[in-house]
Amino acid sequence: MYVRGVGPRVAALLEAKGIRTAEDLLYHLPFRYEDRQHPRALDELKAGETASVIGEIRSAGLVRTKRQPIFEIALGQGAFTIKCMWFNGGYLQGRLRAGQTIALFGRIEASRSSRNLKMIQPQFELLPEAGSDDMTRLLEVGRMTPVYESLGGAQLASRWQRKVIFQLLEGIRGNVPECLPEAMLKRHGLPERERALAETHFPPEGTPANELELARTAAQRRLIFEELFFLELGLELKRRRSREQRGIAFQATDAAREAIREILPFHPTAAQKRALGEIVSDMREAHPMRRLLQGDVGSGKTIVALQAMVVAMENGYQAAMMAPTEILATQHYLAARKLLGKRRYRIALLTGSVEADAKRSLRRQMEQGEVQLVIGTHALIEENVEFARLGLVVVDEQHRFGVMQRFRLMKKPNEAEPDVLVMTATPIPRTLALTLYGDLDTSVLDDLPPGRTPITTRRVGSDRADEVWEFVRGQVTAGRQAYLVYPVIEGTKDDQQELDFARDESAAEPKQETAVKQAEGRRAATLFAAAMAATAEAKMELRSATEMYERLRVGPFAGLRVGLLHGRLNADEKEVVMRRFQRGETDVLVATTVVEVGVDVPNATVMVVDHAERFGLAQLHQLRGRVGRGSAKSYCILMTGERVSTEAEQRLEAMVATQNGFELAELDLKMRGPGEFFGTRQAGLPGFRVVNLIRDKELLELAKQEAAKFVTAPDPEVTELERRRVWDHLKQNWQRRYGLMEAG
Ligand code: ADP
Ligand code: MG
Repeated sequence: MYVRGVGPRVAALLEAKGIRTAEDLLYHLPFRYEDRQHPRALDELKAGETASVIGEIRSAGLVRTKRQPIFEIALGQGAFTIKCMWFNGGYLQGRLRAGQTIALFGRIEASRSSRNLKMIQPQFELLPEAGSDDMTRLLEVGRMTPVYESLGGAQLASRWQRKVIFQLLEGIRGNVPECLPEAMLKRHGLPERERALAETHFPPEGTPANELELARTAAQRRLIFEELFFLELGLELKRRRSREQRGIAFQATDAAREAIREILPFHPTAAQKRALGEIVSDMREAHPMRRLLQGDVGSGKTIVALQAMVVAMENGYQAAMMAPTEILATQHYLAARKLLGKRRYRIALLTGSVEADAKRSLRRQMEQGEVQLVIGTHALIEENVEFARLGLVVVDEQHRFGVMQRFRLMKKPNEAEPDVLVMTATPIPRTLALTLYGDLDTSVLDDLPPGRTPITTRRVGSDRADEVWEFVRGQVTAGRQAYLVYPVIEGTKDDQQELDFARDESAAEPKQETAVKQAEGRRAATLFAAAMAATAEAKMELRSATEMYERLRVGPFAGLRVGLLHGRLNADEKEVVMRRFQRGETDVLVATTVVEVGVDVPNATVMVVDHAERFGLAQLHQLRGRVGRGSAKSYCILMTGERVSTEAEQRLEAMVATQNGFELAELDLKMRGPGEFFGTRQAGLPGFRVVNLIRDKELLELAKQEAAKFVTAPDPEVTELERRRVWDHLKQNWQRRYGLMEAG
């Protein structure tokens, strides 16, 4: 569709932001609104508040300081003026000129030198001159003005979007196809689609500002509901489809029961028993299992998965298990060999570092059914493997999306669908679980194996490092082992995050935080040149794994056996280091977040995380989960660097306050919002356009009910045409929006 104001060059910019169609543009909603119906009067402003003001530029110019040029304007309203400044504001010269009318939004600050107030780096928008055409003027002032995320520099900023979107809405007036049944909308008092879009972009006069901010107007609710409804409808459909597929009806024979019992080295917990019961009863059904096994770190998921795999093998089928890292795949492989040893199953390990020859022969054995259990990494699906009789696929952590599809292709074309069990340690709050895993049945391991004592968590500043080393020595003397985790591999020059296994959102976060801080630091320094200069200059001193390994083993840990593990070692080296630690041949393991996921060494009782302020909650929780796995008392020590942000402070406090993954996840969700939520990237949270899952909880429930009803109980009020529209809309949107979520 042709949109006024969008030529090929702009189209390319938009495309880079994921906006390809007119519809995409219409669903690019304002992220806030500015009340320009009632802009604030300068004489009533107070320092500390955030306000929107409109006035005339009385004077404008660049002020050169030693460090950087500052662009200053005096904004006037009648007899009052306020100073506004932008650092490094050279780019504003010529753009902001005396006589122009401007709208500003930002924090009001007190001025040190005078009683005057000022605004620093406010957002601004030049308003059309009096006498310019009415339409533009109408969109900019005297209303609740929509403010948009920029779509590419100043050119495609809010003002541009207002105009283009307004024209677009005008152009298609009366032609926006409805995608929801009228009866459904009526039931919940929601407006039709066209009106909802128009009023969300340009709220009609009198729309309460607070309702807009909370996304609670009928127009906004309609768009939120729409997005959630189609998500839930798609999930509902997938659930039904998988029920209709032909699966394998495994039998819980006496031999299988006997085998399961035999491999158990301990009494299963009540939760493990219940989960296995649920899994086996799914496996016995003639349709394929699609089940999620959720359990906090250390809750004992592995053994449950092994038991399920035994059922498959006792039925004459093959099983495959995929882990996110080589260390973990190897660990599972060794555990399987040990536990299943008596049963003489043929078990193989397939990872990226297996040599080509060996791989080839392994592939042949899988194809011919000579291998019954294959444990591996991503390499498993990257090889062109076909199984003779694939019965069960277990996917450990993180790897759900896109992966299952591939596994299904690995079976022979006319064979039945294998069962699938996904395991995750991400404690997903119920709200999100509904959405993310709406198409999977869920089993939860909500208790820990017996004999675990709670982990004591302490926060200390790095100035008390000596005490920490002393404590670690004491534990080692008592026969225990310790982890020591650093955020980076090497020294400050190489300020690279450990990326290897830390794919979690939070891994990237500290760096951004630093960047923002440094930028702020720079700004402040210019402002209060002398006083603040030191802060801005202060270099980030980061202790690193390699450097501390070298220092500690000749210093505080002299005489102890110290190991070093990080993502730049090759797979063999990593394995050697990890095995040594597992066998107790190393006392202290200095590492990066490589140790994060799933590593199991029950004799390790101390987890020291240095620069803990730089880790996200998810990571800290995972790291702490590496200890407290045996019966001895365990400790988690969170050491912090010199500067700790308010958010980091909150994370650390939460870690000290609770050990419950679900509580931490809820908190993380609140602190960072669903976009950044606890491992959601691994979990494949769909990218919503309108929805905010925390804010829109009840609409989610509503959408889910409506979706289920739509599929199961035809509403006589819904016409055939309306039904068809719903399905068409789903078809067009699902693959594009949620394609990544395909679980098969
Ligand atoms: P996760 O759920 O994090 O994958 P694991 O499966 O690695 O947890 O189990 C953690 C540890 O607890 C392992 O050492 C495992 O052998 C042990 N374990 C699991 N279940 C039990 C149980 N019922 N009783 C005692 N120890 C158990
Ligand atoms: Mg595990």
